[in-house]
Amino acid sequence: MQHYSFVSLLQHALTGHRFWGPAWRKAEPRQHYEVVIIGGGGHGLATAYYLAKEHGIRNVAVLEKGPIGLGNTGRNTTIIRSNYLWDESARIYEHSLRLWERLSIELNFNVMLSQRGVLNLAHSQADIREGQRRVNANRLNGIDAEWLDAEGVRDFCPILNISPQARYPVLGATLQRRGGVARHDAVAWGYARAADARGVDIIENCEVTAIRTAAGVVTGVETTRGPITAEKVAISAAGHNSVVAAMAGVRLPLQSHPLQALVSEPVKPVLDCVVMSGAVHVYVSQSDKGELVMGAGIDAYNSYAQRGSFHVIESQMAALLELFPIFSRLRMLRSWAGIVDVAPDASPIIGKLPVGGLYLNGGWGTGGFKATPGAGWVFAHTIAYDTPHHLAAPFSLERFTSGALIDEHAAAAVSH
Ligand SMILES: Cc1cc2nc3c(=O)[nH]c(=O)nc-3n(C[C@H](O)[C@H](O)[C@H](O)COP(=O)(O)OP(=O)(O)OC[C@H]3O[C@@H](n4cnc5c(N)ncnc54)[C@H](O)[C@@H]3O)c2cc1C
Repeated sequence: MQHYSFVSLLQHALTGHRFWGPAWRKAEPRQHYEVVIIGGGGHGLATAYYLAKEHGIRNVAVLEKGPIGLGNTGRNTTIIRSNYLWDESARIYEHSLRLWERLSIELNFNVMLSQRGVLNLAHSQADIREGQRRVNANRLNGIDAEWLDAEGVRDFCPILNISPQARYPVLGATLQRRGGVARHDAVAWGYARAADARGVDIIENCEVTAIRTAAGVVTGVETTRGPITAEKVAISAAGHNSVVAAMAGVRLPLQSHPLQALVSEPVKPVLDCVVMSGAVHVYVSQSDKGELVMGAGIDAYNSYAQRGSFHVIESQMAALLELFPIFSRLRMLRSWAGIVDVAPDASPIIGKLPVGGLYLNGGWGTGGFKATPGAGWVFAHTIAYDTPHHLAAPFSLERFTSGALIDEHAAAAVSH
């Protein structure tokens, strides 16, 4: 791992950074690896890092069809929280949040975690009941959670419109003070650098086109840069997990949808927390650059095109202005979309697939950025021992046949 002293920082600054070495090698594919990970997003890179660091498995390749981190990792609205309803979810998201809290030190790379507090607004009696139930459930799981009434919401976020005249008046909110945002690119870069330093090959512009199996066991992959054999193949290809799993004959209960976000022109600091509303459907925070970062709901149709429909953005803007009339004269700068893969119970699928040596970490839908460290951690363990980590076990594919679903539609109701 590289450490930068004051002298070397000065040297780099004075030489225009010309001698600043690359953060990770441009690795060439080798013929064989112990583990091949398909997908160089935050999850795939975190998995590689923890395989090397926690389990001593360094003969690992991360295969990414484009440059790393330009999938959902670089397209999300960066909201981090752990206040999910069910025990199984609360445990894995809280495990992740705790890893976030020391990630910059762990990776020696500033991921700019900002624990500024996340509000989930309630606009109806049903919202209040759901929110209060979740606060109580969270506390029983040792997660910081508070219930605020409308006045409490205004005190926490003074620019929010809590007028009873609003179409969906704000009646209260859940608050997780340890929730917040982080810099998404830095998460991919930090894990990439740290994994590379431990010998992992990060191979960009290398698309997996087929998964090879023999007698029900995985033997390797075909790629646009040639065939690679492997003892274990791990899929972490958000948005395209069902396409990749189908290469091994596995059908997943996932649907892929576009999910859009946009940013405003930069303005002076005005919003110092994260606000989410499922009823009017918008979630917003302010970036360090000053832009308001806003997310919408998923487009209803299935698609693999990384673009969405205009009407979704239009209603997202209407929702924003209803909650924050102060933003009515802001100009929007740019919008984009990612493809998220959503499971029927709005929970991820982590574990072994019905082909020997083949594993999946996917189905995180609209909310997997916050899970990046935790998912990488439990997935690495699952691959290393060929047995699900205890935090991952409830999220196996088998739950769709056993019926042990983990319905997080309420906690994930607003995409995030
Ligand atoms: C607009 C938007 C807003 C969001 N907001 C939030 C939020 O605020 N908070 C939150 O927690 N989550 C949020 N999410 C969800 C979150 O971004 C994802 O759940 C998470 O980033 C998934 O991480 P990943 O590493 O698995 O995926 P990705 O970063 O998408 O990585 C998967 C990689 O697999 C690669 N790949 C696919 N097929 C192949 C192949 N055949 N061969 C090789 N490589 C392949 C892709 O190119 C991609 O880079 C949001 C998502 C979007 C789109």
